[in-house]
Amino acid sequence: MSASYWFPWWLTAMLVILSMILNPSSSQSTVNSSTINIPIRSFCGRVAVISQSEFSTNLNSTLAALRKDLSVNGSYFSRAQTVGDADSVYGTAQCRHYLTTVQCLACFDSGVSTLAGCTSGNGAYVTLDDCFIRYQNYQNYYDDPTVIEDVGIGITSAGICGNQSTSESSTFNKFMEGFLSDIRVATPKTSDFYVSSIRTHSTGNVTLYAIAQCIENTTQTICQDCLNMAYNNIKDCVPNTEGRAIEMGCFMRYSGTPFFKDNQTTNIRQFLKEVDSSKVGILVAVIVGVGMIFLIISISLWFRLRKRSKAHKEDSSDLQAAVNFSYKDIQLATGNFSEEHIIGKGGFGEVYKAILHDKNVVAVKKLLVRHGRARVEFDNEVKLMSNIRHRNLVRVLGWSSEGPELLLVLEYMPNGSLDRFLWGEARGSLTWKQRFEIIFGIARGLAHLHHEFHIKIIHRDIKSANILIDEYFQPKIADFGLARFHSEDESHVSTKFAGTLGYTAPEYATHGHLSEKVDTYSFGVVALEIISGRRCNDMNSHRSDMYYLLEDAWRSYENNMHLKVVDENLDLNESEQEHVKKIMEIALTCTQSPVGIRPTMSEVVLMLSNERSLVRRMVGNKSTFITLDKKD
Ligand code: ATP
Repeated sequence: MSASYWFPWWLTAMLVILSMILNPSSSQSTVNSSTINIPIRSFCGRVAVISQSEFSTNLNSTLAALRKDLSVNGSYFSRAQTVGDADSVYGTAQCRHYLTTVQCLACFDSGVSTLAGCTSGNGAYVTLDDCFIRYQNYQNYYDDPTVIEDVGIGITSAGICGNQSTSESSTFNKFMEGFLSDIRVATPKTSDFYVSSIRTHSTGNVTLYAIAQCIENTTQTICQDCLNMAYNNIKDCVPNTEGRAIEMGCFMRYSGTPFFKDNQTTNIRQFLKEVDSSKVGILVAVIVGVGMIFLIISISLWFRLRKRSKAHKEDSSDLQAAVNFSYKDIQLATGNFSEEHIIGKGGFGEVYKAILHDKNVVAVKKLLVRHGRARVEFDNEVKLMSNIRHRNLVRVLGWSSEGPELLLVLEYMPNGSLDRFLWGEARGSLTWKQRFEIIFGIARGLAHLHHEFHIKIIHRDIKSANILIDEYFQPKIADFGLARFHSEDESHVSTKFAGTLGYTAPEYATHGHLSEKVDTYSFGVVALEIISGRRCNDMNSHRSDMYYLLEDAWRSYENNMHLKVVDENLDLNESEQEHVKKIMEIALTCTQSPVGIRPTMSEVVLMLSNERSLVRRMVGNKSTFITLDKKD
């Protein structure tokens, strides 16, 4: 490829590296992560292309598209392609989730400058500690990232170990391997195939930081297979205090030196239950062999120990404490709750914009709760809520319960709520790409609440007014005021109805039957609102004065006239129209009446991620992939 093509990337990378050296705090966190991204492994393809100049031009535009995608706040993965007459270029890039957008782009630029060394050949890849880039002129690796043929890339999977060993006892090896194995098991079960975790050895002398990540657009099985391979390689590094495993499709790393912050971890406990229960099974079998009396004593001992270790774990977990604000401070920050500070009003009371004394801007929500019990539960509930971290969930920063009302302090979202963009003053301003990213983000946020926090959380009141939009047009689910924390046993009837008509699943609205699928239903309705720009419970829409949105959408689908309900403010090209149809079908699967056939939110995330590449690139194959059961 020509030098002129690489110049801007090379220059950008050099500038980024220079600025990192001069001002490390601006580009890297204070933890000891790799200050400059040095490539750990890279390969240049060895198969010649048909037209080098066309390949270079297409590569240029693919890399530019990848970079653009990653420059969106909260975006860690991108696929882009430029289709040409002779040589197309299909690219993938991925950052670790502990990075800021600036750090992610810095890593991407370093990777690109490494790949500039590949002057011929039809593909290449580079892995750095913080990111990964791959491109080639075939797209066959899109569905299965472990595919390596067609580029002549000679890849051997292996662990890359540090050279410092720990002087701890042999129990330390077991501890390390156990930790890495847990991460291997948990990662494929998360919604974005990424885990970062910290574990301290029982002696308290060694703390390990570890991450695992699969390429996002893969399947759980491929991710699991890849991490099994990575685990087999990385465990050979034990007892070194540094290790990495690089595979096509996944990455694992551990270190005794922090490379992400303590509050950037994933709660992996819930993904490891099967492992725990099998251990318990073996333990019980052995005890039964020894004798009944022993069994009774052992089980009672085991229960007591388990309870104690659980309590210990909870104490030492990485909860970042929510701040208990004084009422006076909040009064000051909101101009004594003045009119000018009000940014919204909901069922619970007003929401204020507040400027704290450290100049941080937050939102303060008044909760006009009457009965005394809520007040008692409030402090504990807020502490739990503040520990729920996900890029698609509004962060709970603190609370105040000492004044006349309960106050919730939340991350401030300058763009307000989604309904503003659908039928409010910013109506019609969202492009289809932005709308799709919002749908995808809501799905991820819900999957996190349902499946990735150590207790299942059902929101119960998902609606467009509860979706806030950040400055990068990423959605964040708000209002956990109605969420309740559920045990694993979901087969119960809820006595407290906590939803909004039009968004609420029929079994919950009529019988109070509560399960995570209640949120799936509401998600489907919100997705249809995003597609149509119509309120779900508005009959007198300018589009249809006959049916509610949901009925209209089902009728249109059944008559193969999906586009009838699409927002007329959207100017869609042909491939976007196909994409909208598919997303509408996914939304409709979520609104099916039988609870059993409604997908879980993790399944929805998977369906949407399979469709995601279509919105990025102009590919438009008509799909026949979903058979829907009717709403009624
Ligand atoms: P309900 O309380 O019945 O769920 P709601 O969701 O409309 O109704 P609130 O959650 O109280 O009510 O929010 C009211 C409005 O305040 C929102 O529509 C939004 O415009 C604004 N708002 C709420 N939270 C924030 C926030 N964290 N940052 C910025 N604006 C917010």
